[in-house]
Amino acid sequence: NKKIVIVGGVGGGASAAARARRLDEMAEITMFEKGPGISFSNCSLPYYLGGLIPDADSIILKTPEQFQKQYNIKAIVNSEVVDVDPLEKNVRVKNTVTGEITKTDYDELILSPGAKPIMPQSIKGIDKKNVFSVRNVVDIKNIQKYLTDNKVKSVAVIGGGFIGLEVCENLVQSGKKVSLIEANSHVLGTIDDDFAQIVQKNLYDNGVDLHLEDSLIEIFDDHIRLRSGIEVKANAVIMAIGVSPETELAEKIGCKLGVTGAIAVNQQYETSVPNVYAVGDAIEVTNRLTRKKTKLSLAFPAQMEARDAIDHIYKRPIENHGVIGSQVIHLFDLNVASTGLNENDCQKNGFDYRFVTVIPQNRVGIMPDTSPIYLKLIFSYPSGEILGAQALGKSGVDKQIDIVATMITMHGHISELTHLELCYSPWFSTAKNAVNVAALVAENILNGEYEQIPVTKVRQLIEKGAFIIDAREPDEYANGHIVTSKNIPLSQFRQRLAEIPTDQKVYIHCQSSQRSYNMVRALNNLGYTNIINISGSYLELCEYE
Ligand code: FAD
Repeated sequence: NKKIVIVGGVGGGASAAARARRLDEMAEITMFEKGPGISFSNCSLPYYLGGLIPDADSIILKTPEQFQKQYNIKAIVNSEVVDVDPLEKNVRVKNTVTGEITKTDYDELILSPGAKPIMPQSIKGIDKKNVFSVRNVVDIKNIQKYLTDNKVKSVAVIGGGFIGLEVCENLVQSGKKVSLIEANSHVLGTIDDDFAQIVQKNLYDNGVDLHLEDSLIEIFDDHIRLRSGIEVKANAVIMAIGVSPETELAEKIGCKLGVTGAIAVNQQYETSVPNVYAVGDAIEVTNRLTRKKTKLSLAFPAQMEARDAIDHIYKRPIENHGVIGSQVIHLFDLNVASTGLNENDCQKNGFDYRFVTVIPQNRVGIMPDTSPIYLKLIFSYPSGEILGAQALGKSGVDKQIDIVATMITMHGHISELTHLELCYSPWFSTAKNAVNVAALVAENILNGEYEQIPVTKVRQLIEKGAFIIDAREPDEYANGHIVTSKNIPLSQFRQRLAEIPTDQKVYIHCQSSQRSYNMVRALNNLGYTNIINISGSYLELCEYE
């Protein structure tokens, strides 16, 4: 019988064990987990802090007893694999409670040790008892106990990535005053600055004390000090500045690391050491679009890599085309999703790209609870291959981004997305889905049908004294407008052509770019060659101005 040993009992580890059992009823499968629990939902951890999940133990999806009974898999907790003998093919395991060391033989070894939160020792006070990170159930129980026992009112979350934001939201929901410190110029590195501004406004609106382009220097009992010199009140600190792959064991046994510092694997997830596979957050993967090596700490890739590694052991063909990095988070009343490359990725990798921003409604406007979806679609120019997308909104953004993720995976082009037939009823979307709308606009750009600039350039336009037309109705204009803009509504411009200059560039915007787009097309058809649409428009501007 094949002996399969797995290191790590959560995302990739538990998936590998279950897959192995499904392919081989006779295999001897042993999974070692150094912590006290296996198979827990890491992704749900922040929701215990906010009270949405009232019982921390419910985050554990399966116990070792269930693994034994249901799958005949030995899942052994509190057991750290401390060494491997690749020649004799055995692992040395330390019981983390008793210190006892035992040996277990393997034919195939799967490493899925994950990634650990980065805790820089250069930060003074990082080892204080009021400093935490969020990786497992023990962590969140410890955080909750500390917050309760010490009646903590103010918490600083360090890092505005998806874990930091989720922790931030949940602490606010539990009544804490939360400060969020982000070293970069905007939160969520997966999305671009224009969309991050909307996320940041959402944080401000929900009372989060946000500090951008600043970093943590020192932690005290009741406050923290930032690089800028600012002191922020905080009785507890949650570190969420990123994770680093757990490579110690792999390095110790001679597995090569890749250029990113994560464990190097081939297309079949084999490490450089025979019969040793590695999957999940600990490994280096290939980006499907850039073909460059990267790290990606997400649950789906970990689970699929685990399945593929086991399939390879059992000589099943696998297809590994690399990752695109699709993700979604919930933040107060906003959902934020993204897939593929953002503008920054495109620039870093030398892609010639264009993007469009559209703001359609999530469902037909007369339906209840209608809200806008901000959708940014990025595509290569002039080929039209879809490269990435970002979406923000109260609902429906995951659907839009999943559609784009599917298109990217199929190497889809803008022309295919325009014609993608998707389900529709007024409850669920508009007849042309948001992605269809974005693709239609993108097609116009690819065909050179009209010119546009992003709304992020509006401030520069104002400073340059550009001629900006606001195509909304007078009552909308009266409620607020770009300072230097002139109100010529779509409904009136045919009678007011004399007011539109022909000897300088004319920029047009409206609420969501739809009326401005129609006006741009009409003016182009009337022979105007100096008309430029402002993509993103007033709605997006309002969100971050
Ligand atoms: P893990 O699931 O971390 O499992 C590794 C396990 O190996 C750990 O339990 C560790 O204790 C154990 N281990 C390490 N070394 C040894 C050793 N030597 N011996 C024995 N055991 C060892 N992803 C998403 O896609 N969406 C989300 O919404 C999302 N939210 C998240 C929220 C939080 C708070 C966190 C922490 C992660 C989140 N993730 C999310 C990421 C996702 O959970 C991980 O990408 C996934 O769990 C990775 O699986 P893994 O097996 O590589 O690592």
